[in-house]
Amino acid sequence: MKRVAVLGSTGFIGRQTLDVVDCSGGELSVGALTAHKNVDLFLEQVHKYRPKIAGMTDLAAAEKARPHIPEGVKFIAGEEVLTAAAGSDDVDIALAAIVGIAGLPSVMAAIEAGHDVALANKEALVTGGALVTSAAKKNGCALLPVDSEHSAIFQCLQNDANKRGLSRILLTCSGGPFRTWAKEDIARAKASDALKHPTWSMGAKITIDSSTLMNKGLEIIEAGWLFDVTGDQIEVVVHPQSIIHSMVEFSDNSVLGQLGNADMRIPIQYALRYPNRVDSPAAKLDLFALKALTFEQPDTDRFPCLKLARQAMAAGGLAPTVLNAANEVAVDAYLHDQIGFYDIPALVEDMLGRAEAAAPAENIAAVYETDAVIRFAAAAAIRR
Ligand code: NAD
Ligand code: MG
Repeated sequence: MKRVAVLGSTGFIGRQTLDVVDCSGGELSVGALTAHKNVDLFLEQVHKYRPKIAGMTDLAAAEKARPHIPEGVKFIAGEEVLTAAAGSDDVDIALAAIVGIAGLPSVMAAIEAGHDVALANKEALVTGGALVTSAAKKNGCALLPVDSEHSAIFQCLQNDANKRGLSRILLTCSGGPFRTWAKEDIARAKASDALKHPTWSMGAKITIDSSTLMNKGLEIIEAGWLFDVTGDQIEVVVHPQSIIHSMVEFSDNSVLGQLGNADMRIPIQYALRYPNRVDSPAAKLDLFALKALTFEQPDTDRFPCLKLARQAMAAGGLAPTVLNAANEVAVDAYLHDQIGFYDIPALVEDMLGRAEAAAPAENIAAVYETDAVIRFAAAAAIRR
């Protein structure tokens, strides 16, 4: 039995993960649970799974939950729960499903404890990529991708011979809710329009990132770290049906892809049960119902975030940390109707012009400090 630390258990990926645990026939169990603010759902989960460790990062929420924690569950309030849960001896693998750089400390804690990480939290790799991957290598921990595209690539690269012959990654992208919209209409789009994603249902932040294509930009950087490829080796292919989850092209011009319905339980289960393939609660793919799969070039004029992410990746060092921090602040403001759609790339571009973006990522402290500086500067720019 594998014991899982579910970091971000009340979120979309966290809930899907618990569903995978429920369907595992006892092969998976929950060793630890962490949530941020959703007290009711957190308590329901704690009572159902009885983890060894559980906690809420938001202090007010934690105090509401505390009186209702069952006996035998060690309860921790505040951010310490993240590293305690991820690094606990009572878990074998951490499922990183926190959104944003807020998930980075727990990813590092899991690796430092020698645990494998099933990684949904792409921002941890975007901001801490060099440090996370080198620590994982040093401690012999596997980074198992949960992001559907990266799971697809991982599945297509199952042996060393394939990795040696890899020439390009074809990273698929749904195109988001504004794929067919004119630029002037996109410019007026509200967060409520962006939240209507055509093929995937997800948390609010990643749904906005999907509408700006920043999600694909973050995924290019994520793929760079996971598969040791340069930005030039990654081509984004818009594929509105979200059935092919990504492809890899080899030196002999053979292309492999992974297909399936858009159901995150497939990549979550693959990461948690790797290398085994077991029955899934996800529906079978019905090709006859689909009829056609289509492909388009991405449009970086309507979706400039894609260009900005490539620019940050090429610059390296702390540039992706700056990109991510500016984007997190901008997306939050957009979700609260404080800024317009194209203010998101404008703010990111502005922040990428700062000196911090040209500095090397020497250690994890530099990553957190840069994140804080850029958040402050980005928030000030929004207020102006
Ligand atoms: P979500 O908003 O539904 O859930 C986020 C989780 O993070 C919640 O459990 C919340 O409690 C926790 N959280 C939020 N802020 C926190 C903080 N400051 N400290 C500690 N915990 C905090 O998001 P989601 O859709 O589940 O996405 C989670 C991660 O997985 C993101 O990085 C996203 O990019 C990635 N991902 C999601 C999908 C998807 O289909 N939803 C697919 C691929 C990758
Ligand atoms: Mg993805």
